[in-house]
Amino acid sequence: MPNHIKFSFSSCCRNLFLALAFLFLSISSAFAGLNVATTTEDIASLVKEVGGDHVSVTSIAKGYQDAHYVEAKPSYMLKINRADLLIYIGMELEIGYLPLLIEGGRNPNIRLGQPGLLDLSSSIAPIEVPVGEVDRSMGDVHPYGNPHYPLDPANGPLMAGLIAGRLSLLDPDHAPEYKTNLENFRKRVDAKLKEWSARMERFKGTRIVTYHLLWSYFMKRFGLEYAGVVENKAGIPPSPKHLLELADTMKRQKIKLILTNNYTDPSFSNLLAEKTGATVLVLPGYVDGVPEVRDYIGLFDYLIDKIERALSH
Ligand SMILES: [Zn+2]
Repeated sequence: MPNHIKFSFSSCCRNLFLALAFLFLSISSAFAGLNVATTTEDIASLVKEVGGDHVSVTSIAKGYQDAHYVEAKPSYMLKINRADLLIYIGMELEIGYLPLLIEGGRNPNIRLGQPGLLDLSSSIAPIEVPVGEVDRSMGDVHPYGNPHYPLDPANGPLMAGLIAGRLSLLDPDHAPEYKTNLENFRKRVDAKLKEWSARMERFKGTRIVTYHLLWSYFMKRFGLEYAGVVENKAGIPPSPKHLLELADTMKRQKIKLILTNNYTDPSFSNLLAEKTGATVLVLPGYVDGVPEVRDYIGLFDYLIDKIERALSH
């Protein structure tokens, strides 16, 4: 079949599918509260904390997926089409698919400058922001700084604060409840932070290696330091030269731990571990990344537990 016919056939099918699905959803959607779509499960968990029973929330990326790389499926456009609010991480984490999904979602309320679209990155202080001109020619996926800020638990209440403000704007009748829920969440995180910090205190200054720069905010919060990163640059697999140099550094500095995440090919980290005697610890990067991690606070309970155990050996 010639290419242009294939293209028009598939786009015709997609349009028909979208039209039928939109019709079905408009008939079947019975929830009276706010429909919120999020790009990650971490944000979805925060929306549940603040919104309680007055919101229905759905995440585009699953917790076991890399939120840098998500396929722009028509079913995700449907989520955006039926949403009152779409919340995302920003700092170009979702640049590969979110603009396509918003375009395909055809929701006039979910556009830049509209209250139906919320970028959470304005709530936090970014780290690893490059100085000078941004050069993406090397494929760096962190061109405007590190977007993995939900992994500092102190950022959770800041993100939740922005969410509470936007839910209150869209649903003023329940604003007092959103405020109360936010305060309760903030108190729970504050108490947990004291516990987590106390448990991690003895590891302050410990140097580790990670596969991706996923853990930078977490490490900064708890005083862990980088001996190196397996990727050459964020999003770029290591060259043999880089791996050899990193193995040398690790042996010299007696680095015992390589942190990686459960959606990444572990072969490079395993190779380094073989060469250096270090241990590879595979962790979820998001809520729902493993079945035990059901919410935002639970994510840190799980991470602290695993890292504390690994560093104690
Ligand atoms: Zn990243």
